[in-house]
Order: sequence, then structure tokens, then C-alpha cells
Amino acid sequence: MTDNYAARDLATIAHPYANLATLPDQGPVVMERGDGVYVYDSAGKPYLEGMSGLWCASLGFSNAELVEAAREQMARLPFNHLFAGRSHDPAIALAEKLKDMAPIPVSRVFFCNSGSEANDTQIKLVWYMNNALGRPNKKKIISRQRAYHGVTIASASLTGLPGNHADFDLPIAGILHTACPHHYRYAHEGESEEDFATRLANELEEMILREGPDTVAAFIAEPVMGAGGVIVPPAGYFEKIQAVLDRYDVYMIADEVICGFGRLGEMFGSQALGMRPDSMSLAKALSAAYMPISAVLIPERMYQAMVDESRKNGAFYHGFTYSGHPVAAAVALKTIEIYERDDIVGHVRKVAPLFQQRLREFSEHPLVGEARGMGLMGALELVADRKTKAAFPAQAGVGAMFTRYAAEEGLIARSLGDSMALCPPLIITESEIDLLFERLAIALDRTTVWVNSAR
Ligand code: PLP
Repeated sequence: MTDNYAARDLATIAHPYANLATLPDQGPVVMERGDGVYVYDSAGKPYLEGMSGLWCASLGFSNAELVEAAREQMARLPFNHLFAGRSHDPAIALAEKLKDMAPIPVSRVFFCNSGSEANDTQIKLVWYMNNALGRPNKKKIISRQRAYHGVTIASASLTGLPGNHADFDLPIAGILHTACPHHYRYAHEGESEEDFATRLANELEEMILREGPDTVAAFIAEPVMGAGGVIVPPAGYFEKIQAVLDRYDVYMIADEVICGFGRLGEMFGSQALGMRPDSMSLAKALSAAYMPISAVLIPERMYQAMVDESRKNGAFYHGFTYSGHPVAAAVALKTIEIYERDDIVGHVRKVAPLFQQRLREFSEHPLVGEARGMGLMGALELVADRKTKAAFPAQAGVGAMFTRYAAEEGLIARSLGDSMALCPPLIITESEIDLLFERLAIALDRTTVWVNSAR
């Protein structure tokens, strides 16, 4: 059966985030197993997984302890739920652990299954809170251009990428987008990073004043933007943004779906970027991607408002069948135990300088406009002209060509528009980092040859 996987896939699966018009020509790449930072396709070819799957498989692809945690929980209590006050011990222990380790004061934890659901829940919670506080008009949420917060109707509205809005009639009313903090792309000629950060904070303030502070409820941000192209904000950016939010009593949500659990060399991305959020969304590395689970960290003032509002309504009418699923919770708990026991943050701090150095060695490459990143996350932005920063026309397919060459060389990278992203498992070693960049160099040179031949 294995030799016709591709045909069976194409006949049956509607792929997420794929060009369904061209997929039949390229065919799917079918993965069969994993080992450490490697995944193997159905022909047995190994690939260094430079993207941790989708920014999530933080402990690689063969952690026996996580498998055992899932097996043990499945054998003991494979399912129970948290509706109407029912509970189970893995969810209780995980909520306690998250409260304990969070860098912000947390009153309660609300569990969901994905990053999108967590951010969708955040929107509902903010609306719910402001109803309870008797300010039902304070409901608008400000996100940022190029942000990625998910794909449900509301979380896709928070997402600030045009493709996620086009033809879906999004964003929904009341969700706004302020500027993206990417200095290389959006700074004015000669504008310093500090002036750029100040200008963006001023623009946010102008937006709040224009909309009316009484109508603006929350601001949401990833510490480092992921799917928007691995965008590290300039120093001081969040401090300036926070000052604006404080002035108008705007609640701040940190989307820690990618940056949470060590990715940037701190346990949470907010700590690495100096953010002071009221709440956080967690997912992905929460369970090292071995099970789908996400969490919303709820501060006391929000929780009290939820209690008041549900007293009025008869209940808090929100939750998923699998909120806090016991197997997922058990795996998440084991994941965090491993992070702490093996000092995963310490490991990231040890290897990230090499990762960032090897990445920046491509800064002068003829195809690279900017090499950027933080911790174990990075991107190379490819440009048609380094001087003018002119992008390649979208239809040129340079990113797709690069990722294809990388895959041929045994490296999985991801093209996000013109930005070639890397986000390897947190357990990657220094010699694996060297190998990653050796393969990347070949893929980039092959892409250069291809670009030059097309010129
Ligand atoms: N938030 C961020 C920062 C993400 O990167 C993602 C997914 O990549 C999401 C939210 C949505 O998560 P999910 O795909 O689990 O719904």
C-alpha cells in the first residue's frame, strides 16, 4: 500500500494551507516516522525538521516519556471533561503547574485544543468581562498587520495577513490592525529603531483616540511574530506600546503560541521581549505537539467578571468537548516536567548564539535582504534587489523553489512569502545546527542559480 500513498492522499484529503490547484502536480510529501530532530518520508529519506513541524515539536519526534505519559493516561482514564464542574486530575495538575510557572499573576486556566481556539476564547472573555463591568461598548480588539493568531472566524480576523481575509469576508467588525514592527521593511529612510518604535506607539495611540478609548477593549501580540515572517520588534517597542495601553485601560493579550516554553531563551516570550500582558494564550510546545491542547491564562479581575456575568446568565456558556482532555493534559504535564528537569531554557541559551550566528552569515548573500531572528527562531528574507529591497514578484515562486531545494538536500524550512523561516526543535545540538546551515547554504546557492537563469 505504501507505494501509492501520494495518489491515495490526492484522492481523499483536502489539505489545509495548500494551493489545491497545483498540489496534484507537486504531490504531497508523506512522512512516516520521526527520530530526534529528523522525520523520515515513506521512501525512508531523512529530513532535518528545521520547522519543528509547524513551530511546535519542541522535543523532537521520538520522546519515549511523552509516549508513556499518553499510554498511561489512556489506559487509566482516556476521556473525561470539565463541563459543569466535572474534573479530572491531569487537568488539575496542569492548571496548577501553569499558574505556578506563569510570569504573570494567574487566577484560573481555561483549556482549549488549538491556538485558534485559545485566541477565539480570549476575544469572548474580553467581551464577557466588559459586559460584566458595565461597559458593553468597550469591545474592539487591536491586532497588528502580519500577525498570526489563527483561523477561526474571530482568530482569523485577528490575523493580519491578507490571504487569511480574502474571500472569507474578514475581518469581522470591531477588529482592527495597527502597524507591523518590522524595521527593515517599514521604517522610514534613516529612521532609527527607537524612533520607529516611538512612531508605532504613537500610531497605536492615534488609532485608539480615533476609535474612542471607550470602545477599545484589548490589544493582542505575539512576542516575535512567527507566520508573518519571524519579525523581532525593535528594542523598547513593547514598553512604548504598553504605556499607551495603560493610558486607555486596554487589556493586553500575549499570544505565546509559538514563543512560549523556551523558544526565545526564556520560558515565555513575554519575558524575553519585556511584555507585561494581562493574559496569555499557550499551545504548540505546551505539549511538545504530541497532543493538541491549548490554554488561556486568566487574571483575577477577568475571572471575577466571569463569575459575575455567569451569575447573571446562569453559566459561562463556552467550552469545547475536549477542553483539558486528560490524555493531552497528561502529556503537557510531562512535557513541562521535561523542560524543567532537562533545563531546556538553559539549552536554548547555550545553542541559540550559534544558530543566530550561522543565520547571520547569510546577511551578505546576494539573495538575502535581511537575516533576522531570536533564540531558536529565524528567517532569511529573500529579495530581488538588496539595495532597493525590492521583493520578488509573488508568481516567481522563489520561496517555493528554495523550500523544494532544501527538502531535496534533507532540510525542512518554510517559506512565508519571501521570508524563509527556521524554528528547529529546542533539543537541537550544535552539530545539528551546523548541518542545518550546511544544507541551507546549498539550497540557497541552488536557488540563486535558478533565479539567475530566469533573469
Ligand atoms: N497563534 C500563533 C502565534 C500561531 O503561530 C498559531 C499557529 O501557527 C496560532 C495562534 C493558531 O494555532 P492553531 O493552528 O493551533 O489553531
